[in-house]
Amino acid sequence: MNRRFALMIDPLAEGVDRSDYGDTLTAVDAAAPALSVGELSTQRGDGVFESIGVIDGHAQEVVPHLERLAHSAQLCDLPAPNLAQWRQAIDQAASRCADGEAVIKLILSRGVEHGPTPTAWVTAAPASDFSRMRAEGVRVVTLDRGYDLGAAERAPWLLLGAKTLSYAVNMAALREAHRRGADDAIFLSSDGFVLEAPTASLILRFGDRFVTPAPTGGILHGTTQLSVYEHLSARGFVVGYERIPASDLPRADAAWLVSSVRLAAAITAIDGASLPVDQVLTDELNAYLLSPRD
Ligand code: PLP
Repeated sequence: MNRRFALMIDPLAEGVDRSDYGDTLTAVDAAAPALSVGELSTQRGDGVFESIGVIDGHAQEVVPHLERLAHSAQLCDLPAPNLAQWRQAIDQAASRCADGEAVIKLILSRGVEHGPTPTAWVTAAPASDFSRMRAEGVRVVTLDRGYDLGAAERAPWLLLGAKTLSYAVNMAALREAHRRGADDAIFLSSDGFVLEAPTASLILRFGDRFVTPAPTGGILHGTTQLSVYEHLSARGFVVGYERIPASDLPRADAAWLVSSVRLAAAITAIDGASLPVDQVLTDELNAYLLSPRD
């Protein structure tokens, strides 16, 4: 697939059980206008999304992505997505992807202002080339996220922990990281704990123990991090979710940013201080993440 592919979904309620949802999925010209000007995803960023990696036409970690879509929808008071219907849309999009790496996006928006239903669509497109980041790693800076760890529970309307379409803040954080001479950022809570990157989860290694921030503090539960943990557990390593103080970062024996399309990139420096890099393990993780997984 050299071009984008797009499929509009006529969303069915959760629990409507059919053997075929084909008549609710409409392929549209991805280069042509498809959304109404009253669409709340574009007016207010009011919706949720997922980005799924596709390897040689195989969509990776579909179930965790669908579960997170449903979780995000719930946090945003959107109607629960019919996951069997979305699964069929993903299969259809994946079948249009050529060999190599691609990305499928799922978008569920609140729809058109005063309209009857959410708007839902799926796109597929070739993935950007992340081979250099996987091979050479990334320099990161820490940035204040502006919330303490309790904010997600105390103020659920902030939608922390939902993968909403409002990524302007995440993109601004990346620009700030670039201004500071780094490739990426790690958000810290205002009370000094490690959270996540603007578009990735963080995994740290201390000896033979691997830790990632607990996804209760208003961060996303990464599907790639889950896969990496499966692999590391099978290799006999201890893996866990913890509250990680920012002061632990320089003590890490290695660290990675992981996400569905970039996969694993070793962190080479944090705030200008070098971090040890285990490129052999990084290559192993990426080989695993590039193998077909459900
Ligand atoms: N955290 C944030 C804020 C993200 O945007 C992403 C992915 O886009 C992740 C974590 C990693 O999630 P996944 O591994 O499911 O791609």
